[in-house]
Amino acid sequence: RRYLISPLQKIDRQLSDLSVDRPGPEYPDTPVAEIFSIEEASKRLHSSLLENEQTRDALEKLAHRDELTGLINRRYFMTRAEEEIQRAHRYGRSVTVGMADLDFFKRINDTSGHAAGDLVLKTFARMLLDSVRQTDLVGRYGGEEFVFLFPESTVEEARMLTERFRQRFAEYDIRLPDGEEINVTLSIGLADAGRSSLEDVLRQADDALYEAKHRGRNQVVVFA
Ligand code: GH3
Ligand code: MG
Ligand code: MG
Repeated sequence: RRYLISPLQKIDRQLSDLSVDRPGPEYPDTPVAEIFSIEEASKRLHSSLLENEQTRDALEKLAHRDELTGLINRRYFMTRAEEEIQRAHRYGRSVTVGMADLDFFKRINDTSGHAAGDLVLKTFARMLLDSVRQTDLVGRYGGEEFVFLFPESTVEEARMLTERFRQRFAEYDIRLPDGEEINVTLSIGLADAGRSSLEDVLRQADDALYEAKHRGRNQVVVFA
């Protein structure tokens, strides 16, 4: 009983409790080699559960990110934005959605090369993250298009925030790998998401963005 039954019962209990949320199994010393190797195997099982959990977390994070800019990708933005909008609707809170597109971005690629274009996108993303609140969602929608969601913000508040950012970015000298310094501007469209679905409000923000391009770029337009 002392050398076989009790240790086996303990192993049985430890195995049924095995979980990444609990510390790994521990056992008193045993002189029985077979018991010892089962105990060691149960410890290895716990370590590999932990490892799998960490790998899964890391992969999940990677799957949400855009590789170039480190911003969240379009798919993850849509999931999170849907949640935020539903919450805002439920509690009658303000929420604003925006789309931004860099102006004449193709020219940068054409005249300075694709790597220069990439650097501009990364610089833009970094400045953007510096300018928004922790709770704001900022995603890369595709190419040189970006998408925002500002929880607890009216369109007017979002307009002031994005307007400040627009100015700051337009004035920022971006140093390209060849030493050349350039300035890039962006156009932004905003729409009130307080009463509309994500799909509708994205289309409205995109309309406003189109209007901003049409009016001469380098400006913020609110969907009317
Ligand atoms: P507009 O002011 O009307 O927005 O003009 P634009 O030149 O910015 O717009 P257009 O849509 O014609 O060009 C977008 C360019 O963005 C074309 C594409 O090659 C480039 N692009 C998209 N994704 C990337 C990327 O990841 N890296 C680089 N370097 N360029 C990209
Ligand atoms: Mg574009
Ligand atoms: Mg563009």
